[in-house]
Amino acid sequence: MGMFLLLAVLALIPAMIAQKKGRSALLWWVFGVLLFIVALPASIIIKPLEAQATGKKCPKCAEFVKEEALICKHCGSDVTSIDVSPIEATVIQDESEKDQSKDKV
Ligand SMILES: [Zn+2]
Repeated sequence: MGMFLLLAVLALIPAMIAQKKGRSALLWWVFGVLLFIVALPASIIIKPLEAQATGKKCPKCAEFVKEEALICKHCGSDVTSIDVSPIEATVIQDESEKDQSKDKV
């Protein structure tokens, strides 16, 4: 029983890492309890789901443009005001944090 409690706590680590990347925390927690040795490195190397997304949709021409885009490459209209979902915004924040740490080095 003590061993299970230890695993249950340890499994929170890959669960939290995976959740930050837009994955199911519960699923990764169960994965961590069952196979902690595999789940921990797996949660670290998986890519954020949103990084594979096609970006945001232009309101004028309905084409997808990159999230970082300021104007639509298809019709040239302003796409800066388009809201990204909270999960996507978190990913963008993570990316900018990485860039900042790069600048320091
Ligand atoms: Zn457009």
